[in-house]
Amino acid sequence: MPRSHVRRSCAALSLFVVLLLLGGGPSSAQAAPAPITPFLDGVLGSVDDYWHETQAAAGRPAPSVLHSWVVPGAQVDSACGVPAGDDAAFYCPVDDTIYVGQAFASALYDGVFEGLPGQKAGYGKAAGDFAVAYVVAHEYAHNVQEEAGLLAGRTRALPTELNADCLAGTWARWEYGKGKLTDADVQEALDAALAVGDFDYFNPQHHGTPKERHDALQTGMQSTSTSACDQYLQR
Ligand SMILES: [Zn+2]
Repeated sequence: MPRSHVRRSCAALSLFVVLLLLGGGPSSAQAAPAPITPFLDGVLGSVDDYWHETQAAAGRPAPSVLHSWVVPGAQVDSACGVPAGDDAAFYCPVDDTIYVGQAFASALYDGVFEGLPGQKAGYGKAAGDFAVAYVVAHEYAHNVQEEAGLLAGRTRALPTELNADCLAGTWARWEYGKGKLTDADVQEALDAALAVGDFDYFNPQHHGTPKERHDALQTGMQSTSTSACDQYLQR
């Protein structure tokens, strides 16, 4: 490649870096939406810190999990037999990975995601940064369940789903205690839990009604110990 071309691409690259550092693009009207990945990384880091602290205090091994923030329009193969795409939000125990579609997270963040069963039925609304944080904390909780041997051999999703909501709540309480959450954040998460509730009672994949999911999250938020969430495993 001729030198002038090399120099030009370097200049283009540094302009890009400068724009990134300034936190803006060339024109606000045409700028691409802000990437959601720094936010997802931040939440995951906090949830990971919480579980390192919690497991250490309980004398349990440190947790470990991989993650994949699926690029918009992409399709990533998970080891669980389901591909992860734009609407992904799940934990796959086989490859020990949390999959969240960036498109899904952004839409949730912006409050424009549609099709959540609870919300369609008039319960709650999934919107805002803490709605996204709740999803990440919930999926991380499935990793904690997997490491505790709680996921294998189950035929119904409900017990571990409500337990994961509750455990997400214990993280939220920890964050709140550090002064990092507002009451509005807490309400956002509770509204999101209502929104994702479903009424598919006879499906083994039923995750809980809006009220059940809201109450499980709230139980975690009001608890000083993760053991308060054990009750859901007996459901
Ligand atoms: Zn779940």
